[in-house]
Amino acid sequence: MIRAMGFVLLTGVALMSCVAEGGPPVSVDTQETAIRPQADTAPSARATGTTGTTEPASSESKRVDFWFEGVPVQGALLTGRVPSDTVSLQFEGEHIELGDDGFFIVGLDRDSPAEVTLVAKLKDGGAIERRLSVAPGDWKLEHINAPYRAGVSSAAFQERRGAELAQIVASRGKNVQSDGWRQDFIWPVTGRQSGFFGSQRVYQGKPGSYHGGADIAVPTGTVFVAPADGVVTLAARDEFTLEGKLIIMDHGHGLNSAFLHASAILVNEGDRVRQGQPIGQVGQSGRATGPHLHWGLKWNDARIDPLLVAGAVS
Ligand SMILES: [Zn+2]
Repeated sequence: MIRAMGFVLLTGVALMSCVAEGGPPVSVDTQETAIRPQADTAPSARATGTTGTTEPASSESKRVDFWFEGVPVQGALLTGRVPSDTVSLQFEGEHIELGDDGFFIVGLDRDSPAEVTLVAKLKDGGAIERRLSVAPGDWKLEHINAPYRAGVSSAAFQERRGAELAQIVASRGKNVQSDGWRQDFIWPVTGRQSGFFGSQRVYQGKPGSYHGGADIAVPTGTVFVAPADGVVTLAARDEFTLEGKLIIMDHGHGLNSAFLHASAILVNEGDRVRQGQPIGQVGQSGRATGPHLHWGLKWNDARIDPLLVAGAVS
């Protein structure tokens, strides 16, 4: 529960109200300035350290504000560190996980609002609030001059689909311990990117659902690896209707990966895997028009762009 008093309002507030009234910012916090994306800079992976922020303060000196790495843009994953003496952390009013050393991650959904709020609750009962401006994502939109038509699915499909979705939800709900979220992610496989996260068809102004992952087109049988350490929470060798042979892996702190359309799965549920370890082979099982790996990333309920986490596909 958020306390009504005791907030130390740093940055954001004066700046936001000024901007809202159309006037120039009267106070600019250097840290907030440092993490604001530059208009002429494409969003890049947090691993590349584009923020220009200094290293987090050593444990000897007291941190009085949040520290962040990454560019706050829709679809991004930010790494942060809470102020000293923080006992718990909230993002948009929800409690989120905090490492013993004060580090945490925050995922900004594909459709994140333009401003999000973090609140650190302090040992002395006070709190520090930090607002972040979130830049809009640059999604590939395709405008179709035809009315939107929802697909018609059979009763048999719907019945099967319900059971599949229940398995996916259960696997994502498992609470596992992993430090994979701390690592610099690598691509599970490299090759031509044939599908982009966030891309969407718009039918005479009505948006269809967007693509929730990155597609890499490589031949059937190509081995793909774990992008970071994690625990396998689903290894579906019996094909799902849409995802085909599917692996879901938890990287800790609410972050998980899904790998779709595999031709073979090389791991089992409960396996603890290391970054770079082979986990499956690419295929076109489920609903796929050709062999490719679809890699989806979620942080709690937020859908994240793998390109912003692992950097450009090399
Ligand atoms: Zn895909």
